[in-house]
Amino acid sequence: QAKARGRGRHAVYEPSMHEGAVEQFRLAEALQLAVATGAITLEFQPIVELHSGATAGIEALARWHDPELGTVPPSIFIPVAEQAGLIHELGRQVLVRACAELAQWRERTGGDAYAAVNVSPLQLEDDTFPDFAMTVLRDQGLEPRDLVLEVTEGLLLEERSRTTLGALRSHGVRVAIDDFGTGYSSLNRLRQLPVDMIKIDQAFVSPVGSDEGDGAFLRAIIGLAQTLHLTIVAEGIETPHQLDELKATSCSFGQGYLLARPGPITAIPVTLNRSSPLTVEDGSQ
Ligand code: C2E
Ligand code: MG
Ligand code: MG
Ligand code: MG
Repeated sequence: QAKARGRGRHAVYEPSMHEGAVEQFRLAEALQLAVATGAITLEFQPIVELHSGATAGIEALARWHDPELGTVPPSIFIPVAEQAGLIHELGRQVLVRACAELAQWRERTGGDAYAAVNVSPLQLEDDTFPDFAMTVLRDQGLEPRDLVLEVTEGLLLEERSRTTLGALRSHGVRVAIDDFGTGYSSLNRLRQLPVDMIKIDQAFVSPVGSDEGDGAFLRAIIGLAQTLHLTIVAEGIETPHQLDELKATSCSFGQGYLLARPGPITAIPVTLNRSSPLTVEDGSQ
């Protein structure tokens, strides 16, 4: 008990303390309560059109602050939710709230950004998911185009998941490959994937401007995606130099701490303001 309170004061969850099976079970129990009571919250991060600074999309990121465990990051609790059978309920809550918040944001700002929602492979194995998603969109007065589902590469190889994604896409919902470049798709499979967008993983953006590289690899990936006529989003843009490099390519969209950190959706403007590096660099007028 004292230990748990000590962690709570730390406010950030320490994975090393929860490696054991007993601790995993406690974590799953606490998460079950959090899901049941609606204690999982969302933060939002804009996906920005790099040349105009316009908010093109808004990604919902799940957050869990437990009174005893502290703030548990999604990299820890999403796998727990998957193992404990909680991901379906959690995923539905995230989708409903993300769409509701987006609808309010559009109403308030007049912006037309889409909602980007992360989905677990397990959610795509559920063949009731497409109908659920369509109902949520209708209830919020949104079009299928206003939703982009973000999925990671590996699962796209599963036949059942591909069928679910196909159903969603036939309705007009768009699909993005998240963390692109870190999975194991062969180039040939990539050509056949039922997707509209790729999000290039931060691992390819971070080296730009460091000793590690000059962005040649990043440009090669962008070239590949362009050949496949996919919309490209770069993740994890942290420096003005990385932004400049991307703006010189055919990557049209980006996301990262330089542009905006995850936070409340009310903090997201329709267009990032003039003082940001986005428009300072734009000497076109
Ligand atoms: P992701 O979908 O690839 O989300 C991007 C992650 O990078 C987020 O971490 C975001 O806060 C972080 N990020 C954004 N810009 C930067 C940057 O410039 N630098 C750095 N270092 N990081 C940046 P977060 O929120 O911790 O989420 C981690 C992962 O958890 C997500 O990766 C996603 O795979 C998963 N996740 C989050 N929410 C959900 C959810 O509702 N459902 C599911 N299934 N997975 C989720
Ligand atoms: Mg994502
Ligand atoms: Mg990602
Ligand atoms: Mg990621």
